Amino acid sequence: MSKITVPDLYAALKQHFGFDAFKENQLEIIRALLDGHNVFVLMPTGGGKSMCYQLPALLMEGTAIVVSPLIALMKNQVDTLRGTSENDGIAHYLNSMLTKTEVEQVKSDIQEGKTKLLYVSPESLTKEDYARFLRTVKISFYAIDEAHCISEWGHDFRPEYRKIYDIIAEKLVPAPIMALTATATEKVRQDIKKCLNIQDAKEFKSSFNRPNLYYEIRTKTKNIDKDLINFIRQNRGKSGIIYCLSRKTVEELAEVLKANDIKAEPYHAGLEPQVRNETQDKFIMQDIDIIVATIAFGMGIDKPDVRFVIHYDIPKSLEGYYQETGRAGRDGGEGKCIAFYSPEDLKRLEKFMEGKPVAEQEIGRLLLKETAAYAETSICRRKMLLNYFGETYTKDNCGNCDNCLMPKKETEAKEDLAKVLRIILATNEDFREDFIKNVIFGKITEEVTLHNLQDLEEFGCGEDQSESYWNAVIRQALIAKYIKKDIDDYGILKVTESGKKFLNKPTSFLIVEDRDYKDAESVEPIQTGAESSVAPDLYDMLQDLRKKKSKELKVPPYVIFQDPSLQAMATFFPQTIEELQNIAGVGPGKAKRYGKEFCELIKRYCEDNEIDRPEDIRIRTVPKKSKLKVNIIQAIDRKVSLEDIAESNYIDFDELLNELESIVYSGTKINIDYFLEENLDDDQIEEVYDYFRQSETDRIAIAQKNLPEYEPEELRLVRIKFISEMAN
Ligand code: ADP
Ligand code: ZN
Repeated sequence: MSKITVPDLYAALKQHFGFDAFKENQLEIIRALLDGHNVFVLMPTGGGKSMCYQLPALLMEGTAIVVSPLIALMKNQVDTLRGTSENDGIAHYLNSMLTKTEVEQVKSDIQEGKTKLLYVSPESLTKEDYARFLRTVKISFYAIDEAHCISEWGHDFRPEYRKIYDIIAEKLVPAPIMALTATATEKVRQDIKKCLNIQDAKEFKSSFNRPNLYYEIRTKTKNIDKDLINFIRQNRGKSGIIYCLSRKTVEELAEVLKANDIKAEPYHAGLEPQVRNETQDKFIMQDIDIIVATIAFGMGIDKPDVRFVIHYDIPKSLEGYYQETGRAGRDGGEGKCIAFYSPEDLKRLEKFMEGKPVAEQEIGRLLLKETAAYAETSICRRKMLLNYFGETYTKDNCGNCDNCLMPKKETEAKEDLAKVLRIILATNEDFREDFIKNVIFGKITEEVTLHNLQDLEEFGCGEDQSESYWNAVIRQALIAKYIKKDIDDYGILKVTESGKKFLNKPTSFLIVEDRDYKDAESVEPIQTGAESSVAPDLYDMLQDLRKKKSKELKVPPYVIFQDPSLQAMATFFPQTIEELQNIAGVGPGKAKRYGKEFCELIKRYCEDNEIDRPEDIRIRTVPKKSKLKVNIIQAIDRKVSLEDIAESNYIDFDELLNELESIVYSGTKINIDYFLEENLDDDQIEEVYDYFRQSETDRIAIAQKNLPEYEPEELRLVRIKFISEMAN
């Protein structure tokens, strides 16, 4: 049993990283490790995997060994960790790039007990000299990052990874093992556990939902470059990645962007490693805004503030798409994921496959079909993606994808679902979607005649509807779980238990028809997440200062402070090192190391602009409370529903209203229109608003006497809007 308690963990989280709460599963994972278990961690990109080993490493006796495949990644993580402490020896890496003197320094820091984390590449681990040294020191545990590299079934197999366990077992001191990955198939999972001999590991799988990512599919027209340039200009100064399928497109597009004064560079496997590294560094240091890349780019980088990921061509699989879009908004801030789609692209991709072995072609086609279904659907994209990864998303409207923001009308498809189910059963649940559609359309094919299906009652029963209509019925039946796809024989459609129940007693089945990309009507871009309470000019100044410091100190900007922290600073105006520690993501180490100039800048800004700061941030005795306010304000900026805000902060709705009132009465502007408009009609809002404008008092009890048809909560909500707009 370990002596480190849960309160110790919270204190260390605040102390070293400046966070008040753990993300999903982090606490449970860390506790399992501290209790001496082997642990298996499955988390989506951006889920906060590194914290799972960094925090316990800092607290446990000895040094944690972190095996990581990429040198660039190691360096970033070490920089970030050093930024959280006053001791540079706290984290080191060992790899082929170090000089002899540097290696000696690493060894002596470890021996002196300064070093809590040591990053190694799998190749270094196999080096006799290092292994001999590591045998002599106290190891707290082993963390194997990107553990899917172990499996030949993963998308990034590395043979050296297979040796890790042998080395630990034969040459090093035994200690618990933590394996971490963001890639999830069952097959790979089993492989990892077997190879690391951790079949007994406690397994933690987080939700793959990334609520801050916004998904949109746009029609790819001849004007795509113009659309893209407009988009980038609207998002000036933000970092973005544009993925293309071919090197040629990458090169050409990068040229076009550069010619339009956009700071962009190409990146693909055909470029010299040195050029690639330079480009990557420039991107991390924010010397360039955009990287135009093939899928070769991204795995090694850990930049938390990528604000958009664009797919210039439709990706070949949803796995790839999800991995690539996952690189946006890792810090929980804005992350727009936009893919351009045209059916012609799809045909081109299918043609490319023709040269490949038959089995590979078949898999490739099935994966492409999933992508096409995703692109064409009119239902919530988040729902569709999560469903693809085996997770049920229960909300109907996520509020953060193009389809949810511009919903299409639903139509009743009860009869048609029954037809589909009957056909699947009548053909012995032995065929894929395309074949089922042939039966629906009454198309005579070889396979149809072979099985005598032309005599089936349902044969040709759906000729009066379009193919895209039937696609929608089938795909939405999959999501509603009336049918499912066979796992072993991938793509074969089966009727589920609830499908059979439905056939016995059909109930309403509403569907939305797919989008039609042939008559390319361009979808209007949607603006998401206004940052209303942030002082934009101060935010810009803080970003500039961060960039300057980043150059001076030769660390990436986000190592100093991440975007959400700068936004909070431009909202709450902290002016001393103590106040700065109340900002999310800023612990005492960071505040001391980097905070001085930021505080000075904020102070000057407040004086120049005669800004009265909200009370709470100044009073250090209530840091918890002000943190809650920061959370609330940031969530409102992201247009999160108030119910969800209350829930995620563990307060009830009434307490939330109290907090909101205290925020606006102390002079901070917030915009809750998005929530009001969902719950009240425009004229209702206007009526209450007018009442407050004319009334002598803002007391709710009196307002209720005058407007008895409204609930007190409704009155309070409109009053919040009123105070925010009128008094601030
Ligand atoms: P992954 O490796 O799973 O992709 P990271 O470890 O890079 O994710 O973490 C993603 C982001 O989440 C980082 O910006 C990190 O600072 C942030 N983060 C991690 N843990 C927490 C936490 N408990 N509270 C707030 N932010 C966190
Ligand atoms: Zn949605």
